[in-house]
Amino acid sequence: MKIVYPGTFDPITLGHVDIVGRAARLFDEVVVAVGDNPAKTPLFNQAERAEMVEEELAAIAKTSVETFDGLLVDYLKKRGFDLVLRGLRTPTDLEYEQQMFATNRAVMPSLEVVFMAASPEFAFYNSRLLREIASCGYAPRQIVSPLVAARLKAKTGK
Ligand code: ADP
Repeated sequence: MKIVYPGTFDPITLGHVDIVGRAARLFDEVVVAVGDNPAKTPLFNQAERAEMVEEELAAIAKTSVETFDGLLVDYLKKRGFDLVLRGLRTPTDLEYEQQMFATNRAVMPSLEVVFMAASPEFAFYNSRLLREIASCGYAPRQIVSPLVAARLKAKTGK
């Protein structure tokens, strides 16, 4: 079975990589779908984010990377995908994901979502706070790979 792991990935962290690696052991293929939500004003543009995802996942078999614009459900319908993967870190994630699922299900009845628990060592990291500290020159190796750290350094000029 193919599963789609959608997100902003601004930028991809070791927590994301961990989820993809674990999912690749459970599913036939994990399609990482890098969205474009201009309202979020990402640090990296969509092409840059997708490129980093590709670099990070190069060594993980049974993974592929795609990009999409607009609504996730429209992308899923267009591509013929029904199954989505999301990572769960905290109760806040769950609350948000349940609302997302209910709303998306209302417009796509065939949608199914699988939640994967974040590994404890990554459960409290998120891209937003990473971007904040990166703007001051920090890119800890517990949170991102050296490759992404270098990209952050180049982007922020710190
Ligand atoms: P979005 O903008 O859709 O929330 P993100 O790129 O922030 O996208 O995250 C994509 C998915 O990865 C979400 O399901 C999110 O909960 C999950 N995720 C983010 N960070 C981690 C982490 N450190 N460990 C496990 N899952 C994570």
